[in-house]
Amino acid sequence: MVEFKERTIKVIIDDSKCAECKTHACVAGCKTFARGILVLKDGKPALGGDGDYAERVGTECLACEYECWFRGNKAIKIEAPVAGLKEYLEKRGLSLA
Ligand code: SF4
Repeated sequence: MVEFKERTIKVIIDDSKCAECKTHACVAGCKTFARGILVLKDGKPALGGDGDYAERVGTECLACEYECWFRGNKAIKIEAPVAGLKEYLEKRGLSLA
């Protein structure tokens, strides 16, 4: 499992799904739409620096998750908490799925 944080999001990659991935679309997407903090290492995506690097350089663009879900093996999940969302929904009788 690969996990790292950017300023407000957390990227979680189940890299057990990456060995059979033919596209490595996450890495290409990161390079195309952001600053390329994801690199390919031993056939799997890896952060191209330490945790500070991800928080400093990451753009929170979500491209890796999108690219993986549509062109890879659905291995990436990004947690993007929204402050106050839970309370907002509860006031309206709704809840997070
Ligand atoms: S696109 Fe998804 S499955 Fe493919 S290498 Fe990247 S994270 Fe792994």
